[in-house]
Amino acid sequence: MTFSSGYSYYFDPWHALKSVRKQVIKALKGLPETQRNALLDLSSRFLRHLYYSLELSGGHVQVFLEHIFSFFLHIQNIHEWSAGNFTNYLHLSNTTLLDKKFSHVFSCCHSYLDPNRPRIDSASPEFPTILKIVQNKNFP
Ligand SMILES: [Zn+2]
Repeated sequence: MTFSSGYSYYFDPWHALKSVRKQVIKALKGLPETQRNALLDLSSRFLRHLYYSLELSGGHVQVFLEHIFSFFLHIQNIHEWSAGNFTNYLHLSNTTLLDKKFSHVFSCCHSYLDPNRPRIDSASPEFPTILKIVQNKNFP
């Protein structure tokens, strides 16, 4: 994949994607089957979203970050939001993310919404697992 010129990455997106996969595989160990399946399903959705976010960001790091975090709103059935800190919507524990804001991306980019796709509650076990991976200091 190539990105439009004029932007520069301060991270390696492909390394980030590989890193997410590795951490998901690690998190799957020892989980009961239902939790395992739920985490596998959510992580594959998240990985698709990461690829999609990369394309949408056009190499703009802030836009990429906002698209990444919009995933956690989308799965809770929130498809439009206001400018403001990620912490207005998400419980974040990584201090470097506490001052990150939605300043470019204020809605999902999908037009069609699959009515059979269940909303993922932030209290479900798989939700914080994926959120924690994204908050890892090595990501992105
Ligand atoms: Zn959405």
